[in-house]
Amino acid sequence: MSESIEANVAIIGAGPAGTAAAAHLGQLGVRNVVLVDRADFPRDKTCGSGISPKGIETLRELGVWRQIEPEAYWIKGIRIVTPGGHESVQSAGSDVEAIICHRRTFDHILLKKAVERGTRFIPNFSAAEAIEDGGRIKGFVGRDGTQIHAKYTIVAGGSHCRIGVNKEKPRRIINAIMGWWDDCEFTPHIVEMLFDKLVVPYYGWLFPEGDRRVNIGITYEDPDNSKNARQLFREFLDKHYGQRLKNATQVGGWKGHPIHYSYDVGDLTGPGRVVIGEAGLMTHPATAEGIYQGMKSGMLGAEAVADILSGRTTEAGAMRTYETKCKQAFHLSFLGGRVFRRLLKTPALDWAVQFGEQAFVKSGAARVMAHM
Ligand SMILES: Cc1cc2nc3c(=O)[nH]c(=O)nc-3n(C[C@H](O)[C@H](O)[C@H](O)COP(=O)(O)OP(=O)(O)OC[C@H]3O[C@@H](n4cnc5c(N)ncnc54)[C@H](O)[C@@H]3O)c2cc1C
Repeated sequence: MSESIEANVAIIGAGPAGTAAAAHLGQLGVRNVVLVDRADFPRDKTCGSGISPKGIETLRELGVWRQIEPEAYWIKGIRIVTPGGHESVQSAGSDVEAIICHRRTFDHILLKKAVERGTRFIPNFSAAEAIEDGGRIKGFVGRDGTQIHAKYTIVAGGSHCRIGVNKEKPRRIINAIMGWWDDCEFTPHIVEMLFDKLVVPYYGWLFPEGDRRVNIGITYEDPDNSKNARQLFREFLDKHYGQRLKNATQVGGWKGHPIHYSYDVGDLTGPGRVVIGEAGLMTHPATAEGIYQGMKSGMLGAEAVADILSGRTTEAGAMRTYETKCKQAFHLSFLGGRVFRRLLKTPALDWAVQFGEQAFVKSGAARVMAHM
């Protein structure tokens, strides 16, 4: 007979959202939390691994910054290339520092923190469907038939997860493909964002991960699925990095992965369930940043569940508060992302860089870095 597990809270997915929720539940004194992931850890995740200043702040709140910092590569500035080919290098200023921390390491550190605070982690567990009872979600069943019954289910399965989410909600997609290289020429501690015509209103990037390794990728639109990702990436690399990659060694293959988002922050809860992170379409529409949003919504979701379990709030009240707090945290910046993308289709950035509008470029650069 298949195993059955009883939990106060069960979480699907151990990315930044799910691990932050689990670690924060531990901080809030909630016991009997089960976290599952279809992978075992450490595992890779296709990602630029850029963490914005707000992400760093969230890591401090989670009490995990001390473990992340020694693994982090500090970013102190940004090189921007405009659609017209003009470029500008800006130092970020001491208040806008960011880091790159490879996701294999980053996610594993967060997971270890959750486990240290009492979470039971079950690896190689692929959640197949929700356990529903009269419209209420009461846990989920794994592909091997194992049932996890829970008072509350937190859905943190990322972009492809459809369990416990509103499947009718329109989702927008940013396409991405990327790779890793050792010994490519780069300026230490500077990220590069290239708003090239090939990919506008999105961008290509180079993020240094350490003294030798960089990741390079592109994000692009492809609403009718007509673009060849590898061809587009090759064209981008030849145009911008052909020379600098000449003596570099590629590490592993190129990886493609979609990023799902919505301008409409909401539809994140229902009886017995809370959706967090990219499963709830909370990624930045212009920069594709999702690590900070995952961790932040994970913390807010944990607070909602802790409030209900302790009897401080009704379920309906806590769910409403969670949705409101997510809106407050992300809505304006997501709308700002829409404006930024529209601006990229005009010559505004070119003019500013070409004619030396330093204040505009500097504040623009700081904003982009803030949502790396
Ligand atoms: C190419 C690319 C570059 C990016 N660069 C950046 C960047 O530089 N900075 C940034 O902030 N964001 C970046 N993002 C976005 C970021 O990677 C995601 O938004 C972020 O990982 C979302 O976190 P999450 O915890 O919600 O989901 P995920 O990190 O996707 O984690 C979900 C977890 O759930 C597990 N899972 C899924 N389904 C199931 C299931 N059925 N059962 C069990 N487990 C399941 C998965 O194995 C995974 O471990 C990038 C994305 C892409 C594709």
